[in-house]
Amino acid sequence: MILPGATLGVLGGGQLGRMFTLAAHSMGYRVVVLDPDPHSPAGHIASQHIQAGYADHAALQMLGDECAAVTTEFENVPADSLEYLEQRCAVRPGADAVRIAQDRIREKQFINDHGLPTTPFDDIFEAGDLEGGFAKLTPPLLLKTASLGYDGKGQLQVDTLQQATAAFEQLGNRPCVLEQVVDLACEISVILARGSNGASVHYPPGENTHRNGILDTTVVPARIDTATSARAVRMATQLADAMDYCGVLAVEYFVTHDGELLINEIATRPHNSGHYTVDACVTSQFAQQVRCMCGLPPGATDLLSPVAMTNLLGDLWQPGSPAWQHILDEPHAHLHLYGKHHARPGRKMGHFNCLAENPDSAIDMAARIRQRLGF
Ligand code: AMP
Repeated sequence: MILPGATLGVLGGGQLGRMFTLAAHSMGYRVVVLDPDPHSPAGHIASQHIQAGYADHAALQMLGDECAAVTTEFENVPADSLEYLEQRCAVRPGADAVRIAQDRIREKQFINDHGLPTTPFDDIFEAGDLEGGFAKLTPPLLLKTASLGYDGKGQLQVDTLQQATAAFEQLGNRPCVLEQVVDLACEISVILARGSNGASVHYPPGENTHRNGILDTTVVPARIDTATSARAVRMATQLADAMDYCGVLAVEYFVTHDGELLINEIATRPHNSGHYTVDACVTSQFAQQVRCMCGLPPGATDLLSPVAMTNLLGDLWQPGSPAWQHILDEPHAHLHLYGKHHARPGRKMGHFNCLAENPDSAIDMAARIRQRLGF
């Protein structure tokens, strides 16, 4: 067990790294952040910020030598860098797990190979593969880059082979998945934490709504039947076991109108749809990340209150700094800002959690705040 007083490392200094750092600090750990950005939200508050690229071996060596364990806040850290670090300290989750989540083709194949469903898809390595994809799937379809896509970026709707050929070129002639568009009843996600001894705990599924491909709100408990909820948890646990996973894992699902559950994607880290845990659960997903990487048993995941989480995107800053009193005036709302300097449209700048006696009242409180803030 790695106990308070030890130094922990995180690859990536965005908002997830920042909330990890806050949790680790409050538990008495030192935190070193590796991120090339001099203004990274986590770098600002860390005990130490190594400002270097994720493949910089000298920087990785410094991080590995200083830390008892290292974790990541995003999937796109080169898996080779995690392997390099694995020779120096505990790396949780490990390179093998992160490698799966880095690539949509590998990820979907891994999920299907373990008997779990995804949307119908075909892998596209070159433009010539598109014809075969169209023969197998029924439009409308989405073409998504296999790697480095997030928040709906790197994906285009394609309804004809001609559109798909143009889209493949527009996406840079890179490996892609061609995916059936699903008629969604709703989207949900399960966050779980699995310790180094294989014991796992899960949070109640959250119900997610997206705007323009970006997560907008998460409501917990999700307004789905208990059988679907239990099935989602079982599937997430099965995946984590298959990966021999250690850390916080997020599994996103599409729920179809006939009650089918399809895994959309996984994240090998805390997830935006788990931000509600910070104010509404016994143990936050970030404290859980600390516990898992330190070999401590996972903390309790009880939901203390129904909650609605709403993201604050950079668009809201366009007329100037938002009128925060509209959130701060609500005694059951919690504001979280990430300390980012530049508020670009679509950039995640913060979020707020509304706690209420039931999910519908939490949604109403969030709607009231949104209306006052003007979005
Ligand atoms: P992704 O980056 O793949 O998670 O996509 C972002 C969002 O776009 C998802 O959360 C859905 O709201 C929507 N989306 C992506 N793929 C599909 C699909 N195959 N069918 C329906 N909606 C989708």
